[in-house]
Amino acid sequence: MSAAAPRAALHDLIARRARFLLTTHVNPDGDGLGSEVATALWLEALGKTVRILNDSPVPPAFAFLTADHGIETFEVERAEARFAEADVLIVLDTSNRQRIGRLAPVIDRHAIDIAVVDHHVSHDGFGLVNVIEPEAAATAEIVHGLIRESRVALTAKMAEALYVALMTDTGSFRYSNTDGAAHRMAADLIDTGIDPQRIHALVHSHATPGRLRFFGEVLSAMRVLEGGRLVVLEAAPEQFQRNGLVGADTEGLVDMPRTIAGVEVVALFSEVESGKVKVSLRSTGRVAIDQVCSRLGGGGHLHAAGVLLHGTRAHAQERVLPEIGRLIAALEPAGRARA
Ligand code: AMP
Ligand code: MN
Ligand code: MN
Repeated sequence: MSAAAPRAALHDLIARRARFLLTTHVNPDGDGLGSEVATALWLEALGKTVRILNDSPVPPAFAFLTADHGIETFEVERAEARFAEADVLIVLDTSNRQRIGRLAPVIDRHAIDIAVVDHHVSHDGFGLVNVIEPEAAATAEIVHGLIRESRVALTAKMAEALYVALMTDTGSFRYSNTDGAAHRMAADLIDTGIDPQRIHALVHSHATPGRLRFFGEVLSAMRVLEGGRLVVLEAAPEQFQRNGLVGADTEGLVDMPRTIAGVEVVALFSEVESGKVKVSLRSTGRVAIDQVCSRLGGGGHLHAAGVLLHGTRAHAQERVLPEIGRLIAALEPAGRARA
């Protein structure tokens, strides 16, 4: 099937249906939320009814974006009602059914069409329509394309949501998914009159002092392995509690050691709740780490992936680090020209 076929199928499904429910993955990020808001505005411009229901609440950093859109958080009765009211569920920024959290089992109780719009590599999608484009820097890039293909004008409100999504998923245009298409999209968004500087400030000014102290603690205890090419970070339940933090507060932490010269991979083992270890992996561009996570039941992208493991942090490290060590050992020495 050509890349255009799923998009055409989605446009067609949207044309034939009136009531839409949008969702994204658990612990939503800028791409999940920005894609939801932009899609909602687009569908509303097409005269559709739209509701947004997520497993988890909106983190404070994105409240400015979602405030006008009544994004709801999962409760059983609410979910039943929203599914009953809708013709189509559009799942954004994940193609893995488990990743929509508590909404997943609700699907089976309702006759609802599912459309998946995502840019992850690891799953096939569980929708009637699956618009899955791993080459997109963000799900929002696909949403932007869909809006541009339709007869709806791109508004500054849509552009703001899409910009938040693109900016966060590319690490402010620094990660390896930042390509010409991402910059062309940014230019198109900025041309609607949005203020990128203001958006960056809004998204990046929500830390508490406790969060920075926590970052400091975790970074001070970092281990540097594999001759400086692997950095390992750990956070214990006690550290989250003492600093008054939740899992979402680790956002950005795993990216910091990427600034150390020579680092290929950073691994964060974050245990918010005792016995549940969230593994976050980042590659600076040469090591493909998505396989490490997908083999354990998680997923992600070539250079940013994650998985939730049950057990101790030590056990999680035993399951993940030797494989990363092997991938690093297989690399050409840094600096040598690559094909
Ligand atoms: P994170 O480390 O949470 O920022 O996630 C990095 C990437 O991996 C993102 O694209 C996530 O969508 C993906 N990811 C994280 N955790 C999981 C998981 N448990 N299952 C599948 N994908 C995940
Ligand atoms: Mn995401
Ligand atoms: Mn994304």
